[in-house]
Amino acid sequence: MKISIVAGTRPEVIKLAPVRAALLGTPNLQPEWVATGQHGSLADQTLDVFGITPDARLQLDWNGKALTSLTSALIRDLGEQFAASRPDFVLVQGDTASAFSGAMAAFLNDIPVGHVEAGLRSGDMRHPFPEEGFRKLISPIADLHFAPTRAAAKHLTDEGISTDKIRVTGNTVIDAVQMVGAMDIRPQALDAIRANERMVLVTLHRRENWDEGVSGVSAAIKALRNRYPDLRFVIPVHLNPRVRGPIEALLGNEERIDLIEPLAYPDFVAMMKRAHLILSDSGGVQEEAPSFGVPVLVLRDKTERGEAVKAGVARLVGSRTETILTNARQLLDNPRAYRRMSRAANPFGDGHAGRRIAQLVSAFLGAGSRPETPQPAQDLQALRPEPQPVQDARRVKVGA
Ligand code: UDP
Repeated sequence: MKISIVAGTRPEVIKLAPVRAALLGTPNLQPEWVATGQHGSLADQTLDVFGITPDARLQLDWNGKALTSLTSALIRDLGEQFAASRPDFVLVQGDTASAFSGAMAAFLNDIPVGHVEAGLRSGDMRHPFPEEGFRKLISPIADLHFAPTRAAAKHLTDEGISTDKIRVTGNTVIDAVQMVGAMDIRPQALDAIRANERMVLVTLHRRENWDEGVSGVSAAIKALRNRYPDLRFVIPVHLNPRVRGPIEALLGNEERIDLIEPLAYPDFVAMMKRAHLILSDSGGVQEEAPSFGVPVLVLRDKTERGEAVKAGVARLVGSRTETILTNARQLLDNPRAYRRMSRAANPFGDGHAGRRIAQLVSAFLGAGSRPETPQPAQDLQALRPEPQPVQDARRVKVGA
């Protein structure tokens, strides 16, 4: 049976690569990778890391066009792709235009859809925009919801999705971190960092942080660099011109602030391991950093990944200079506060999410097979939301 995997952006490639690997090891299931081209070179760089050659590539003419043009082109082209290749099941991940369009195109072709990383909610349609809308719109279409945590599953039951369709699998990003973490990589970017320097890794790309956000964060970075002579900032600058232009203008040619090109995923993971502190508005980074015990100051006002904040390994600080400074100084000056935040405990998963998802797709399709390495039943049991009627959903326990 053919399973189409739709991926357009770097995080989708990272989070779906482990699912593809698990599907390849599942008898009677054949993954078909459909690259939408939403992120161009960033996604291609990541496909190379995982050794994936797309089976189909859309010829998307995107390049910064309006979201309506992007989304309508994606629905049309993915619809034609599915009509021609007739997959038995479609998998989408997360909250991008590619994910929403993949789900919609599958629905319109009457093909069942599975949503990887289902149930994340910030509770505000404008933050993050358009991601909160995309992930909410996928939910009524999806036939299977792979929620990374119990809290995510609860959001779905709160919205009336039947518990039969929801499984808590863990987040596949933890599988991906483990896959590349096992590679023995020493990124070139490490060469510039002295042994006694505390490295602060920074990523910034979200729409909410364009303009004012970039200025606020940049001012905080300069102030911290001036105050602490042992700090070095490393910033892999996103390719989006709305972020890249201002960051280069505000932070280019500054001592101990290294602006570098986006790193290949294994290099970025190696940099996270070496970092003393991470400042980031990325969703994936919030999920990955707890695996290495590196505190994250989240440069957003709202997060759909509250589990890390609850676990005490991440803190929401927004993008205002003063708030970033107050929180960063507390961690840089106070070893006890730093130690409290740097526990290596990851509330998002255990590295087996991909195999659980492959197993669940196989069971849904009645593919009559078990994966080569079945997960112990108690693992899956522990991760499932308690089966209970929707009206009792509030009793579903929150937390991973
Ligand atoms: N990442 C990477 N290279 C970089 C910066 C980030 O491989 O230079 C990875 C990071 O580890 C995470 C993902 O890209 O898994 C996050 O992507 P992004 O921040 O673009 O999207 P988001 O997670 O916010 O959706």
